Amino acid sequence: MTFSQETDKDYRSGFVALIGRPNVGKSTLVNRLVGEKVAITSPIAQTTRNRLRAILTTSHAQMIIVDTPGIHKPHHLLGERLVNSACSTIGEVDLVLLLFDASNEPGRGDEFIVNMLKKQQLNVIVALNKWDLVIENKKNHVFDTYKNFLGDVSWPLYPSSAIVGDGCIELIDAISAMMPKGPYLYPPGFVSDQPENFLLAELIREQVLIHTREEIPHSVAVQIERVEEIPKKDKKIDSQIKTAVLATILVERKSQKGIVIGKGGAMLKTIGTGARMQMQKLINGSVYLELFVKVVPNWRSKPAKLAELGYEDI
Ligand code: GDP
Ligand code: MG
Repeated sequence: MTFSQETDKDYRSGFVALIGRPNVGKSTLVNRLVGEKVAITSPIAQTTRNRLRAILTTSHAQMIIVDTPGIHKPHHLLGERLVNSACSTIGEVDLVLLLFDASNEPGRGDEFIVNMLKKQQLNVIVALNKWDLVIENKKNHVFDTYKNFLGDVSWPLYPSSAIVGDGCIELIDAISAMMPKGPYLYPPGFVSDQPENFLLAELIREQVLIHTREEIPHSVAVQIERVEEIPKKDKKIDSQIKTAVLATILVERKSQKGIVIGKGGAMLKTIGTGARMQMQKLINGSVYLELFVKVVPNWRSKPAKLAELGYEDI
């Protein structure tokens, strides 16, 4: 792609906040729109913790998408920070992309978000996500249900499937048309504003959430200790560099450490293998991954620990 936007007066750029209840598919949609895995997803609610900026650059516009943690009732300090972060994101952007799970009726959580957006008079585009799960002869009904639910606002509705990809091109067109005129803000090759270490840590955390499911709730964090590039000695493959990643998985209780390690280390091995495969895709090269597990009681309620892990007080 060539970029002549410096001289292109019609080029657009801006910020888009993704808002929606936990689990509606925000992170999946970010990955789908950007075309690379920048946000981790899982069937478990509240997977996303940090505000992640994903960058989508087309020949017409650059859209910086802020994936917010889902809005929910906070139960502890980390929860509180997540909600504050989601709410404060909204005020700073050019457009809000509001996501609903179209396979479910609108609920009280959706109502809370809609009322909050209505008060702020923002530009809003609505995506009816998980449209693939809506059966064919119910589609009109579901569309109308959400239209009525929104009431007298002029927000356009777009059915979308972050998983299948349907409706995503229309969504990108609609978003880019709403961006203000301006040059691109990040170099076109960038897909995320997060340092690679953050993405690496998230890939490990994702595997922990996937494989331990109910046993380990959200008391897990990952710290990357070291990333090193090791040139390969073998002459035949010396064009390849191996990346060594050393990371620590933090849990809150000793019993959780046992679960993460598993019988004879089996669980940690599964987590490590899964994370390594994802890392290799991200890095585009081979990865050696070493994982440690450490108990840090109540890390979620400790401001210093939260800051160290990058959950800033915003
Ligand atoms: P978030 O909490 O809003 O960021 O939601 P995630 O992106 O983590 O997705 C939550 C779950 O919904 C995951 O299991 C996704 O695979 C699934 N999901 C997301 N988008 C779609 C979709 O369009 N269709 C279907 N069938 N599932 C989806
Ligand atoms: Mg998410």
